[in-house]
Parts: sequence; C-alpha cells; structure tokens
Amino acid sequence: MALYRAHESLTRNLVPFILLTATLCWSQSAVRGFTPGSSLREQKLERKFKLIPSPKEERRQHRIFTAEPHIAGSERNNELARYIAAEWKKQGLEDVVIHEYDVYTTFPKSASLEMVAPLHYKATLREAPYRVDPDTKNPRVTGAWTGMSISGEVTAPVVYAHSGNPEDYELLRKHGIDVKGKIVLVRYSNPYSYRGFKALTAQREGAAAMLVYSDPAEDGYKRGQVFPNGPWGPETHIQRGAITYDFMVPGDPTTPGWASVPGAKHIPVSEAVSAPKIMALPLSWHDAKPLLENMDGPTAPEDWQGGLPIRYHLGGQKVQVHLKIEMDNSNKPNYVVEGRIRGSEFPDELVVLGNHRDAWVFGGVDPSSGTASMMEMTRAFAQLRKQGMRPRRTLVVCSWDGEEVGLTGSTEWGEQFADELRKNAVAYLNVDSSTSGPYFQGSAVASLAPMLVETSHSLQDPSGKSLYEAWRESTARRKHEDKEPGAVVDADLADTRIGSGSDHTVCLNFVGMPVIGLQFDGPYGVYHSMYDDFYWMNHIGDPGYRYHTLMSQLWGVLGLRLANADLLPFDFATYAVNLREFVNDLAKGKDMSQLDLKPVLDEISRFEAAGKKLNASTERALTSSKLEAKTADEINRGMMQIERNWLNPEGIPGRPWFKHILYGARYTYAHLELPGLTEAVEKQDWPTARAQAEILQRALANNTRLLDELAAKLAEQSSAN
Ligand SMILES: [Zn+2]
Repeated sequence: MALYRAHESLTRNLVPFILLTATLCWSQSAVRGFTPGSSLREQKLERKFKLIPSPKEERRQHRIFTAEPHIAGSERNNELARYIAAEWKKQGLEDVVIHEYDVYTTFPKSASLEMVAPLHYKATLREAPYRVDPDTKNPRVTGAWTGMSISGEVTAPVVYAHSGNPEDYELLRKHGIDVKGKIVLVRYSNPYSYRGFKALTAQREGAAAMLVYSDPAEDGYKRGQVFPNGPWGPETHIQRGAITYDFMVPGDPTTPGWASVPGAKHIPVSEAVSAPKIMALPLSWHDAKPLLENMDGPTAPEDWQGGLPIRYHLGGQKVQVHLKIEMDNSNKPNYVVEGRIRGSEFPDELVVLGNHRDAWVFGGVDPSSGTASMMEMTRAFAQLRKQGMRPRRTLVVCSWDGEEVGLTGSTEWGEQFADELRKNAVAYLNVDSSTSGPYFQGSAVASLAPMLVETSHSLQDPSGKSLYEAWRESTARRKHEDKEPGAVVDADLADTRIGSGSDHTVCLNFVGMPVIGLQFDGPYGVYHSMYDDFYWMNHIGDPGYRYHTLMSQLWGVLGLRLANADLLPFDFATYAVNLREFVNDLAKGKDMSQLDLKPVLDEISRFEAAGKKLNASTERALTSSKLEAKTADEINRGMMQIERNWLNPEGIPGRPWFKHILYGARYTYAHLELPGLTEAVEKQDWPTARAQAEILQRALANNTRLLDELAAKLAEQSSAN
C-alpha cells in the first residue's frame, strides 16, 4: 500500500530551527551518536557499503519480482518467499527463517456487473493489453476484485456518492436520496483516503454494495499523459485493493491481538471487527462511465463533477445494475522471511528493516521497487560481513506478506515477537514502494528526524547534488505549491506525522518502536493496477534504476548508523518540540474551556529541558573520549525505553490494539497525533479527554524522569574520570 504519503500534500511541521542547529553542531567529521574515532570508522565502512549496490543488479532483481502477479497467499508469492530465503543464504545473511502464519484470506472466484436499466451494459472488469508491454498480455492477471469483500448477489439502483465520506451521504440526504439497499458508486479521492473507510461508511449507511472507480481527474488523463506514454492511469486501469477495517485492528481479522501461528485460536469471521460486511468491487472509468452518463436525479454539485466529459448526476432510480461476487474464503499461509547479520557486541539489540513482498498484480512500484532495493541492501550487508565487518548490534531484515490485505504478515510477526521487540528493538526502518519518481520523502518519529536529515548529507542524489540538497529543493517546491510561507529549514524535511497504511504500523503502534519510512516519489497513476509493472518502471518511473540504488544505500546506511552508534542517535528535545506542536494543533479553533492543557504543556517543557540536557551530556561524553562501554550500554538501554513508555496497555479508547498515545491513524489512514486525546476532544467527550490528558501527562513525567536519570549517569561518569 503506502499511497498515502505519495498523494497527500504533507502537513509540514514548522518546528523552529532546532534541527538546523542540531545539524550545525555536528561538524562534517562527526556522525551523530559516534565518538570522533568511531565516526571515522563508520564513515569508512559506509563508503565501502555504498559502493556495492548497482543499478544493473537492482534491475535484475526487480525483473524477478515483477515477472508474474504475486498476490498474498498465491503460489507465486510463496515461491518468491523461498527465493528470497535462498538468495539471502547465498548472499551470506545469517539465521534465515521463514515464519508461517495461517491467516483468513479471500480470493475471487467470480465477479460480474451488468447494467440492466435503462439499457444493457456488461462491465469488462478487465484491463486492456498494450503491444509495447508484453506483461499486459499475461493470462494470469486477475480482473477487478476487492480483498475482504463478502460474497453476494443484488440488483439495485445506483447512487453516485462522490468520495464516499460521511459528509457526502449528508449531502445526498439533503437531496432526499437514501442509499439503503442501493449500490453506491464512489470514486477514489485525492488526497488519498483509504477505500476501507469508504466501505465502512457505505456499510453504516445501509448500502447493499460499493463500487469504487478511478476518475480521470484523480489519476488519469486530467493529470497528464497516460500509460504507456506517461505515468498516469489509462482508460481501463483498475485500482484493486482491500477494504479490511485494519484501522480498527490490523492483521488477520480472526486473530485480533495475537499471532496466527499454526494451531492458534481463530474467532469466527462474523465476530471480527475488522472484517467488512459489505460487497465491494473496483472499476476502471471505462466501466464506470456508462453508469454515470445514464444517471438521473439532481445534478451533482460542482466539486462532485469529475474528469469525464459528462454531467455527473446523483442518480438513485434510473440506472439499475446486477452485481454478483463470489469469494473463496479460507485460511491460507502467509510467509514472512527473516534474515540477520548478527551483532558483534550487542547481538540482542535489534535494528529491524522491512519491505512487503505481496503485490496486487506485478507490483512494479508497489512493492517490488522496494523489494529490489532490499535485495541489494542485503547483498551489501552480507558482503561487508564476509570482509570481516560486523555491525555492533544485530540487523534484522524482513520480507513481509499480506501487507496489501491488512498489513497482515508484519502484524502477525510483531504480535508473535512483541515481548522480545519491546525489550530489544532499537528502531524499525520501513520501505514499501522504494521508487515511483525522483522526489525523496522521508518520515520519522520525531526523535529520529534529525539523524535522518543528517544522514541525507552523506548520500549522493542522481542529479549530482547531495540527497540533502535534492530533498530541500523538492520540499521548497512543495511548500511553494502549498503556499506555505518561509524558506525551507531542516525541520521541514522529515515528516514527523505518521499515519498507517504500511508495515511500520505494528512496530510503532503496537510494539512501541521508533520508526522511519523512506520513499522516492513522483507522478504515479497506475497504483494497484496491471500497469504498475516492469515496463512502467523502465520507461517512466526510474529507467536507470538509480533511485532504487540510492534507496539501497540510504536504507542500509541508516541501519548501519543505528547498529553501530556509541550512543543511539535519538533527539528527545526535538521530540518535545514536535509534541508541543501536536498539542497546540489539537486545540486550534476549538472551544477548550472544558479541558486545561496547561499541565500537559508544562510537562512537555520539562521533557524538552531534560532532552536538551541529555543531548548536551551525550555530546560531551562522545567528544571527551571517556565514554565507558558499560555506561554507554545503560544509556542506550534507557533511550530504547523512551518510545516504549508512550504505550498505554489499554490502548486508545475504542481501539485497544493501538497502544501508542502520541501516534495513531484515522480511519482514512491519515496521521492522527495524540489519538486518544484528539478523538475525545473532537467528540467533545470531556471526561475521556481529561483521562487521556492525564495518561499523556504521566507518560511525559515518566520519560522526563528517565531522561534526567540518563543525563545524570553520563555526568557522573565524566566527573569520575
Ligand atoms: Zn505497498
């Protein structure tokens, strides 16, 4: 998945120059978290590492993964799991294992859609082949289907419900249109909103089924040249996808909160909150147009009009369709492949890097670009190891499965190993799609944003500039487009507002690991269609595979820095600055007379002061060359605990699986900061809001105490020397 970041114009955090000063404080020769001596060793190691990934190998790997459709649960995707395991062993990774999870799975047996009035039209539900791209003729490509749709058959009138959001149904009601028992036709929307939320909304409105189509205004000819001449979606492209309600609880719907290891208990699907109770089918605009142009009822409002050369109407009577969907529902295995480079000094401490393997069709961008980048990164890790260079901490690399269905493989793995990860995990670095264009987008939990920005200085963008410079330029362009005032500062670069929609979710929201997400982005309208393939990548997305290569380098260097640092490169003062902004945003424009946020803001100030103190003492300790191994270990263990302390075992109100109190996601996958508190304030449920504010206050106080202890420990050590 992971279209979210690509299409949402990011809400930039305007954190004042903290990050900038942080970067300036560290001279070229020092790497954040390293003593001067180990900085030099690290930079030498990174130079060797960066030379290994090659565009030619990226392309070769990309071809292997995009050669055939590889949907989660399919024989081809399982074969690719075995291929990765074998390849990793050959490369020289250690402890390569394939974890099996038996998960509730849906596959289409058949789907048909026919307009029966006012005239007859049978939807093709297929994508047209192109002569220039032989893969588009592959007979194993599926037609239109939706993961987790229920089976059924219905003949009913069609209502056009715009993006299918709750306010769209309000507008329909104002026009006297009730969708109960009818079929709603909704469109994918920009900014992106997860189709599962559209399905839940349609289900709540009592609709009999949901058809969701790609309007050319969103990802087709209204945006520019279409495939095979350009990056946008052609007439028959179908955006497949799942509608799992994984914003309630991700993973296998029948094992909410525990792992689907073989033999695990499964609850009935009827009791699973994340299993939809509605039929759904995606359509190309080729198949949606005959319905739209025959609709009666009031003319749709101007902002509901789309990119097709017709007047859109709300419908409700004249157009009737017959929809039949037959799904095969059963438990099938999902496979997570895991490999390691064991750490030399702290083998228990884990830096986890992951990418999903399963694709809706060929997965040119999503996710096989990321998989190719991962394979080149692991080859480079293993090559260094063969030359006798081990990271100090253990690097764990995972190929996830079933991400497209409900973040399934990563969730089951995270649930299975939650205790160990909460004890030993340093961070999780996610790459879903690595490349759909040249524009870098990096996101990070606020404490890791400065190290991500710092790392971008040491990589070279294919344009010849540093990645940092290229990142600044694309950020400046976006700020200009969004009419955001001010010049770009370092704090604008990394997005610290993290929603859901990819495999970082279990790590951040359930396990409490700090996370980083990386992607090169560009115009991309073939998402989840057959045209997201090898041809698209070679002619449009990244013809020279240079951004794939840069991703392998960047992802690996970040992993190495976290694995080798003397003192882990967290910046909790930056975390505090971001947190203050989260709290201020939450109160913006609302009547807050029922809730006093001052105690929370005061705690944030104390947390910030403690963070600054720790930053100063780590800097002193690193430059004084008196850092004792035992103290460093204690400080690192303490710093790892900070993120875990943001977890509330009860979870956020109504969604107990989501345990992080700073980071959550809306039902649309959009980022949602301070989820429990924010949702309570939005509902004006003041008792819950007060309780959530207290939980936040307590966690802040705990973490301030911990930071103070760590700073004191470092000071004690330096004075003892
Ligand atoms: Zn993806």
